[in-house]
Amino acid sequence: MDANERRRLLRRRRLLVKRLAAVEEFVRGSVVLMKRKCVRARCRRCAEGEGHPTWVLTVSEAGKTRTVYLGEKRLAEARRLTANYRRASEWVEEIARVNLALLKAGAAETEEQSDGEGR
Ligand SMILES: [Zn+2]
Repeated sequence: MDANERRRLLRRRRLLVKRLAAVEEFVRGSVVLMKRKCVRARCRRCAEGEGHPTWVLTVSEAGKTRTVYLGEKRLAEARRLTANYRRASEWVEEIARVNLALLKAGAAETEEQSDGEGR
């Protein structure tokens, strides 16, 4: 890795960290339309398997899935929060890739230096 590439990666990392630090509102999970069954004894919709479509947020945690009812009211906000989470995790992944590249380059440079010393 040459000095320019190293500088480019460091700049990229600084930008990503800055973006990441600005994201406060995020939630991990998926917004899905669930077909709920109601409590009415003779509901035609439930009998026909149609159910009652309801927006929920599902969050898996330690092998368990939690369901949070959203309704129309909180749908937009939940979508925004989950999209923020996806974006933030992409940035974390990219920072990790940059750091890996820097780590590998650092190891390579150390080898070059020790070669140069002629041991
Ligand atoms: Zn029903």
